[in-house]
Amino acid sequence: MIENSATSPLGALRYDVAPESASLAHLRKSYGLFIDGDFTPPESHEQFETINPATGETLATVALADTADVDRAVASARRAYERVWSSTPGTERAKYLYRIARLIQERSRELAVVETLDNGKPIRESRDVDVPLAAAHFFYYAGWADKLEHAGFGAHPRPLGVAGQIIPWNFPLLMAAWKLAPALAAGNTCVLKPAETTPLSALVLAEILQQAGLPEGVVNIITGDATTGAALVEHPGVDKIAFTGSTEVGRLIQERVAATSKRLTLELGGKGANIVFEDAPIDEVIEGIIDGIFFNQGHVCCAGSRLLVQESVADEVLRRLLRRVDQLRVGDPMDKNTDVGAINSLAQLERIRELTDWGEREGATRYTSACALPDKGLWFAPTVFSDVAQSHRIAREEIFGPVLSVLTFRTPEEAVTKANNSKYGLACGVWSEKGSRTLWVAQRLRAGVIWANTYNKFDPTSPFGGVRESGFGREGGRHGLEAYLDV
Ligand code: NAP
Ligand code: MG
Repeated sequence: MIENSATSPLGALRYDVAPESASLAHLRKSYGLFIDGDFTPPESHEQFETINPATGETLATVALADTADVDRAVASARRAYERVWSSTPGTERAKYLYRIARLIQERSRELAVVETLDNGKPIRESRDVDVPLAAAHFFYYAGWADKLEHAGFGAHPRPLGVAGQIIPWNFPLLMAAWKLAPALAAGNTCVLKPAETTPLSALVLAEILQQAGLPEGVVNIITGDATTGAALVEHPGVDKIAFTGSTEVGRLIQERVAATSKRLTLELGGKGANIVFEDAPIDEVIEGIIDGIFFNQGHVCCAGSRLLVQESVADEVLRRLLRRVDQLRVGDPMDKNTDVGAINSLAQLERIRELTDWGEREGATRYTSACALPDKGLWFAPTVFSDVAQSHRIAREEIFGPVLSVLTFRTPEEAVTKANNSKYGLACGVWSEKGSRTLWVAQRLRAGVIWANTYNKFDPTSPFGGVRESGFGREGGRHGLEAYLDV
């Protein structure tokens, strides 16, 4: 409801509060490890708390899996692979995946609330993006389960066996779906390790797997910290490691896996360039820039965190962009009007602060949104740096927060050179009215995903992944099956 249609001093409309109800989450007080189809206490009986970053409140306690628990989970996945799943026909595997997809839809409101409480992202995004896309991935890969011989990987593609899957905190449920759906469709069994700060939606998903009647041990979900992830990587009973997270940890994992026969895919960090040419429609460009960097508080591996704007329109784009930044509603993630939610952890907030301090120290011009921040919880106001040089840390390093670095260019060649001047290569955006120019630029960009006149568009049919220090392997689409087949 609009409380006051007059514009506020900041230029934003005032909205009344529209909170979603936290009681929809139905959280248990404490969760065990999901092994062999049931929740079991960890061997050590050690638990840790997961908090709501918007309030600091404890949401639930979850189990900390140690090496003995990882052992149990891998043994369970191996048993399920050998006794059940590897001999379950694709048509039957498909039915389970369809059932999981439908149950995610049925429990979508609950899942969205759980995700927002545990992660801090706006309910609007978990409701409209994370949860529907998670269901869409299960639907999509259900369709492949009985058609693997037509996927282009030979007449009799075989699964790998037991997949160890490690995911980050920025899209907890969606990353779980990206990992589990193709693995199960291809006939593998799984041990999934969610991030320490966002374990809850994966545990609700475990309930959904039970509801779907998925055979025991086909998916095991073990909560814990970095030591749990490391134990999974080291385990000799795992045939494949699929990791999404930081380049730093990805590198460590690659070293550990190098001397083994384990397969590996890595989806790592990024420093996406969003390239705006002078002929691009400016209103759409502004929305695209905003979506590119402020979606999910900028905790997005493929975020358009470097804006490259053609010099002839740079002043106008920047002026309009800053006006739009002031209109972003920052605050209670459970409010349906919120655009930018809480920062997921103190560690992440400190990293954002450190890098933005460097931005000022190295001479960039800082603009901070005039929004008011809540007293409690972890927050960072949307921030734009102009006068950024390519050598600045804020132009080179992944900030993983609501911070945009603006650089300019004069010619398409210069735009390409600057966009490619990064150790990463995950995603880029190109904004132009000329299709020929967009294609010319896209062909020269070194990135796994290139969006034209849009940004942060995801679809299960489309492969996603990086080059260079953004990792290797693809998730989504037919390509996503390859990571789980012996090809
Ligand atoms: P992270 O620290 O690398 O953690 C990712 C996962 O790995 C977490 O589950 C973490 O567990 C676990 N882990 C940590 N140390 C480990 C180790 N030594 N061995 C095995 N597992 C270990 O990354 P993050 O900070 O959570 O996530 C942010 C990063 O993910 C960003 O760099 C972002 O770009 C990247 N990301 C990439 C994609 C993509 O598709 N390319 C998608 C989303 C995010 P704990 O949480 O328990 O420590
Ligand atoms: Mg949490």
